[in-house]
Amino acid sequence: MAKPLLEFTDRGIYCQQGKFYIDPWKPVDDAVITHAHADHAYWGHKRYLAHHLSREVLLYRLGEINLQTIEYGESIVKNGVKISMYPAGHVIGSAQIRVEYKGVVWVVSGDYKTEDDGISTPFEPVKCHHFISECTFGMPVYTWKPQSQIFEDVNGWWKSNLEHGLATVIVGYSLGKAQRILQNLDLNLGKVYTHGVIENTNEALRRNGVILNPTERITSESSKEAVRKGIIIAPPSSVGTPWMRKFGPYSFGYCSGWMAIRGAKRRRAADRGFVMSDHADWDGLVSAIDATDCECVYLTHGYTATFTRYLNEIGFNAREVHTLYGGEEEDDAVTEKDEKEEISELPKDERSPELKEAAK
Ligand SMILES: [Zn+2]
Ligand SMILES: [Zn+2]
Repeated sequence: MAKPLLEFTDRGIYCQQGKFYIDPWKPVDDAVITHAHADHAYWGHKRYLAHHLSREVLLYRLGEINLQTIEYGESIVKNGVKISMYPAGHVIGSAQIRVEYKGVVWVVSGDYKTEDDGISTPFEPVKCHHFISECTFGMPVYTWKPQSQIFEDVNGWWKSNLEHGLATVIVGYSLGKAQRILQNLDLNLGKVYTHGVIENTNEALRRNGVILNPTERITSESSKEAVRKGIIIAPPSSVGTPWMRKFGPYSFGYCSGWMAIRGAKRRRAADRGFVMSDHADWDGLVSAIDATDCECVYLTHGYTATFTRYLNEIGFNAREVHTLYGGEEEDDAVTEKDEKEEISELPKDERSPELKEAAK
């Protein structure tokens, strides 16, 4: 029997015919990248291919890399294999990778969500024979509320903080959640201030031509009183740090899909939890997989065992595969690099022993 078009190797998803990898986690010659999150876009490949809207964030995160970009629906051919990209709806620039050779089509979803968040190009199902899917939230308990409802809650909370003389800090990771929050805040209530790590990502996206609502970077010159009258968008690693405490008294809200059932230390400490994820919920996953009409689906990360079993029970041909994507903290996407950057922005004497350890 001929080798499958894509295979799972210890470097990443590999196309032998095309001689390229998709989201490899070890250095390779040719890497096709679904999106700029750290568990998908590693440093050290010779050549990168990604979506045009991932360009500036990739350059910001990885430095000078040899990067080619294409648009959604556009295709290029590598060693006879046709590669094209389709929107994954996960974050700005996220793409599903469609690979075709001799009439056989594989699609690698990367991370995705099916709800239109108003900022990422909405997810588009792509017909294929083989679908490689994530399942970060592949448990029935994960069902997201419509985004409009979540932001009614967020804006209501901000308004009430203003009325009670509290500063408002909303926490979400720097690529994806932060922009989604920014675009859905009620700007009639006040100005939006950002932590440096978030503003760096916003700036990269703006360089890429993405239009975002106005923000003001918080620096040592920022007036505490002014900032307290607006809303602060901060990354998860800033929670509980002196950087955040200097805006007190405040109320801090945490945006994560994990808020649905549980929380790590930082999340548990939140005054408000908003169940908001850039990944598909249970129904989103099942409907997305169904829409591909695939013969076989491979689950890369998340609740792979539970979700694979369920899919097989309802008539799909599903298989769990081993990759290094995601992990349980996926939705926080606090990468080691983010952590280090955030910590390095703190004055040295404000770093706790825990943070010093993490910064090494
Ligand atoms: Zn991601
Ligand atoms: Zn991921």
